[in-house]
Amino acid sequence: MSNYKLLTPGPLTTTDTVKQQMLFDHCTWDDDYKKITQDIRRELLALAHVSPEEEPDQLSAESLESGEYTVVLMQGSGTFGVESVITSVVGEEDKLLILANGAYGERMGDIARHAKIDHEIYNEHYSQVPDADVVEEILKKDQKITHVAMVHSETTSGILNDIEAIGKVVKEQGKVFIVDVMSSFGGVDIPVKEWGIDFIISSANKCIQGVPGFSFIIARKDLLLESKGKARSLSLDLYDQWKTMSIDGKWRFTSPTHVVLAFAQALKEMREEGGIEARNRRYTENNQLLIKKMAELGIYPYIGDAHQGPIITTFYYPEQVSFKFEDMYAYIKERGYAIYPGKVTEAETFRIGNIGEIYKEDIERLCEITKEFLEECSHE
Ligand SMILES: *Cc1c(COP(=O)(O)O)cnc(C)c1O
Repeated sequence: MSNYKLLTPGPLTTTDTVKQQMLFDHCTWDDDYKKITQDIRRELLALAHVSPEEEPDQLSAESLESGEYTVVLMQGSGTFGVESVITSVVGEEDKLLILANGAYGERMGDIARHAKIDHEIYNEHYSQVPDADVVEEILKKDQKITHVAMVHSETTSGILNDIEAIGKVVKEQGKVFIVDVMSSFGGVDIPVKEWGIDFIISSANKCIQGVPGFSFIIARKDLLLESKGKARSLSLDLYDQWKTMSIDGKWRFTSPTHVVLAFAQALKEMREEGGIEARNRRYTENNQLLIKKMAELGIYPYIGDAHQGPIITTFYYPEQVSFKFEDMYAYIKERGYAIYPGKVTEAETFRIGNIGEIYKEDIERLCEITKEFLEECSHE
């Protein structure tokens, strides 16, 4: 099989050095392994700007647990993390408000429905961001609402929602704020506490550039402790997962050891690149170049400039040429890149992710390939 790079929102193209870490079969109860988990947890807190700036090797279990926020690693893909938070912290007497402007927001609604959690959904058009004034109105009108959940980078369209503005309203109204930062954490700087966020969820295989296998939750510790005994699921019980992990870094059930080793390496490489700031710069440059080059081919983004995020872009099909997505996908794949189908319902679109080990050269190459494809289509 010939190799290709992923221009998808995760799993994404990782470095060989990240993948090489998975050649080692690590013992799970070994102290070295538990320390790797603790180092990862410490580093995630630092990335979220909620931990003291101590070096990971000075770490003790006490110092990791002494802060206002804590970290839980959870087996499974990103959705498992979102489901773990929603079904563990929204109690039986509570009500959840979900803001949805894409498939991942809607999935939170699905999770609530499955768990029979009392909830309400504020749907916004896929091309628009949820409005803080509307959220304020809903919260003032329905005093039963205790929790608010939303997505930051809605991967469905590539839109970047204004979680800072919503967080402000949610805090003013004294509610708990849960944010899916799956496809933005590590690629966009998120000062978690400053923005009033109580729980964030992301996963190993997005902007930190690890491989799939677990999600992670950064949680306000007092609210996590309060959730004890509320979980509707055994394996997704956030409190119980934390309880075991907080002792010395041991995972409650079998941990994805190879994925954890790869993730530790991915964090190291992120630090070497220059942290979130450098990664955000590379992604933003990739994204702007992509949008500029595509415009030269008559291909324009679905999301307006003001809210387009730096992670993934939805593009309308060009007007003059007609083709099937499958043909374009195959043509581009043969030439070294995998792209993503569109997910918005009202128009024909496709998506290009620009996160992972993707650089300017890749964006230029992709746009050349797309140009050749469109030329071939118009000759037919
Ligand atoms: C990737 C992603 C998820 C999680 O999806 P999984 O397929 O479960 O990993 C959730 N929310 C957003 C915004 C995502 O981009």
